[in-house]
Amino acid sequence: MAAKRETALIAGAGIGGLAAAIALAKRGIDVRVCERRDEFPEEGAGIQIGPNGVRILRDLGVASYLETSVATPDALSVRDGASARELTRMPLGRWIAERHGAPYWTAHRRDLHVALRARAEAEPRITLMRGTHIVSVASGTSGIRATSASGEAFDASFLIAADGLWSALRDQISGSKADLIPVGKNAFRSVVPAQNLPPELLPNAVHIWLAPGAHVVHYPVNGGRDIALVVIADDDARSEGWDSPTVADVVKSKVAAFAPQLRALLDGASDWRKWSLYRLAHLPRWTAGRAALLGDAAHPVLPFLAQGAVLALEDAITLADVVAASNGNIERALAGYEKARRARAAQVAAASERNGRIYHMSGLNAFARNTTMKVLPPAYVMSGFDWLYGWKPHPC
Ligand SMILES: Cc1cc2nc3c(=O)[nH]c(=O)nc-3n(C[C@H](O)[C@H](O)[C@H](O)COP(=O)(O)OP(=O)(O)OC[C@H]3O[C@@H](n4cnc5c(N)ncnc54)[C@H](O)[C@@H]3O)c2cc1C
Repeated sequence: MAAKRETALIAGAGIGGLAAAIALAKRGIDVRVCERRDEFPEEGAGIQIGPNGVRILRDLGVASYLETSVATPDALSVRDGASARELTRMPLGRWIAERHGAPYWTAHRRDLHVALRARAEAEPRITLMRGTHIVSVASGTSGIRATSASGEAFDASFLIAADGLWSALRDQISGSKADLIPVGKNAFRSVVPAQNLPPELLPNAVHIWLAPGAHVVHYPVNGGRDIALVVIADDDARSEGWDSPTVADVVKSKVAAFAPQLRALLDGASDWRKWSLYRLAHLPRWTAGRAALLGDAAHPVLPFLAQGAVLALEDAITLADVVAASNGNIERALAGYEKARRARAAQVAAASERNGRIYHMSGLNAFARNTTMKVLPPAYVMSGFDWLYGWKPHPC
């Protein structure tokens, strides 16, 4: 158990910041979480939470807030986008829950965020401040001082910058000017009622449709009552933020090559939002003295493996564990956190990039991919992800 006097300041009440706050509070540390936004409005569309993430949500006491709003898909069905031919149907449901000791969930991001907030608000050691934009941090030998955009100063034993993809604190902590590099693709997302799903498609499944330069993913959310739709396609237009409105015609132009039943499903959505995909230049370090980056601020990953939020959960629990075991040596604990997480984040990022290349193949490469998917036993392919879904925190 960490010394009582230790306090944490967290910049950002997103998935990673709230999870870190709960994990630290559970280990006896008082936490102030400063969130830039005044309100948490729409909060994105679907999010997939593999067993590695569900295990952490259970450990944090968040899962019970979420259980009625998630879906537990039975399978992951991959189709050739143009012909609608099913290439493979990999097991999720009981198969993956038994293999990894926790289920594979799909949820609306809003529901995950609401659950984390409800759990954090029930925790007396956590103070959540909205409308507080942290813009700088100074790290000394016994603590940090963070300053908000309005000039307010906050002191704590250490700071966690969980301020997301467009982190204001990344450059200060990493000691570098790291650019976000556009990858030339946009993600378009919406939600439709579950009854819109074509009857020939499995209702309780994650569906992935592949075409050259584009793919579409859809899966049940809101306890199976709605379907989250995501189209990821080549597109040079760039936007900042997660919620830029976009017109349905732009999405239609991206899916013209897909099968009619999929286009009909997408036609049922009216409120499309988009975000642009970026990768981050290499960061020389994630920690500086008593300050550490966490989640997307440290290592944004492309969404082709659906692990961005889960990596932030893994960071949160790892960081809380090393701090709790640190005996007051916070700087060493944060360095240990970075050491524990670097290789894992890089491995997930590389696997996600690889999936993206496979999903968007064209010509002979796409033919070879489809043939391989058809012949490989689905459970064998899924077991190739044991390294991902089987992750557990290392004992300190
Ligand atoms: C509104 C929103 C919608 C999203 N929608 C999707 C989606 O549909 N699908 C998907 O796969 N991923 C989505 N994401 C991203 C996904 O949730 C993250 O990749 C993942 O959860 C990593 O979590 P994180 O805590 O590192 O960052 P985030 O969850 O992005 O949280 C960062 C938080 O920090 C706050 N913040 C930023 N700067 C400061 C600052 N200087 N001071 C204080 N607070 C600050 C932000 O307002 C935000 O609440 C979305 C993120 C957001 C914020």
